[in-house]
Amino acid sequence: MTTPRAYLDWNADTPLCDAARQAMLRTWDHGALNPSSAHAGGQKARAIIEEARRSMARLLGCAPEEVIFTAGGTEADNMAVRGAPVERFIVSFMEHPAVMKPAKASGKPVTLLEVDGDGVADLEALERHLSAGGGQALVCLMYASNESGTLQPVREAVEIARRHGALVLCDAVQGAGKAEVDFSALGVDMLAISAHKFGGPQGVGVLIVREGLALEPLVLGGGQERRRRAGTENVAGIAGMAAALESALENRAEKESRIRGLRDELESELKKITPEAVIFGENALRMANTTWFAHPRLDAQAALMAFDLDGVAISAGSACHSGKAEVPRSLIAMGVDRDLAKRALRVSLGPDTTEDDIRLFLSSWRAQAERMNRNAA
Ligand code: PLP
Repeated sequence: MTTPRAYLDWNADTPLCDAARQAMLRTWDHGALNPSSAHAGGQKARAIIEEARRSMARLLGCAPEEVIFTAGGTEADNMAVRGAPVERFIVSFMEHPAVMKPAKASGKPVTLLEVDGDGVADLEALERHLSAGGGQALVCLMYASNESGTLQPVREAVEIARRHGALVLCDAVQGAGKAEVDFSALGVDMLAISAHKFGGPQGVGVLIVREGLALEPLVLGGGQERRRRAGTENVAGIAGMAAALESALENRAEKESRIRGLRDELESELKKITPEAVIFGENALRMANTTWFAHPRLDAQAALMAFDLDGVAISAGSACHSGKAEVPRSLIAMGVDRDLAKRALRVSLGPDTTEDDIRLFLSSWRAQAERMNRNAA
């Protein structure tokens, strides 16, 4: 089966929305479009990009000049971490590898920022780490966890960082399009987003960089993006991303409350079927669309396959490399027992999710729970 009957993996990827598809088709229909060309085609391409830049800036609360188009969230995060004029990093335990790995690979000191049992960054620990000194720091704190959906206290972290003259990067890849992500209201220095998490195409994203912050470019070559990111722009992808963000933010609050209703129903039924199930981050402010849970007797990989056979697409909480499931480092930081941590599964909903999707998930779960109980008897 290639198309699941219930797609519940929206934190991994989202279907291309109609507004994005139309914007991309319109762009491709113009023919060859290199924004660096001097002729009419080049000017058309430049106009499409600059319109998308203005629209992204308006929707994300920054100036158009602060928007740098990238080839996705990973590149935006890498660019921020590798290019920031800092001597050390303070990185929350919840961060995505796109932030964590370049920080660790930099050769500069990395301090891991502790989180509480729900995955929320410990601000007193942040204050302590910054007070300990060690040079100009970049604090890396995501907007919302891709795993648990937990929202992070970004604004409060910025206030602390400011007192110590530190810079702040917010990876808002899981927030943009679903929540009110506003660069100036957050007060951060850099913010990363990725189009394919909100109905846009894959391989295109944005890094917002506060005006005046001198960032070393990651990709060298031509003078595109005011010499901050070389390479011919992905014109159709950029147009698609701007259209997708506009569309995602239309009636955002209504969409969010409908998704929250479905997610809460899913969680309450899940607990009725299997009272031993643990939902991670349950007591914290969370994205409305995410449930990250584990069951003490669940084999996550087997469950994933059982869901797949039943037409339900979800994710394992732990990345599986060469057949060996890794225990999520974030769950260990949250104080979760290793044995439970390796059993985590993530369900994530989106604007197209229906009651039927939730019913299908729950009927598959009920059948799996009955099998678990029979095997235990
Ligand atoms: N940051 C977070 C929080 C993510 O969830 C992801 C993707 O899952 C990324 C960064 C990477 O984004 P991309 O897939 O566009 O490279």
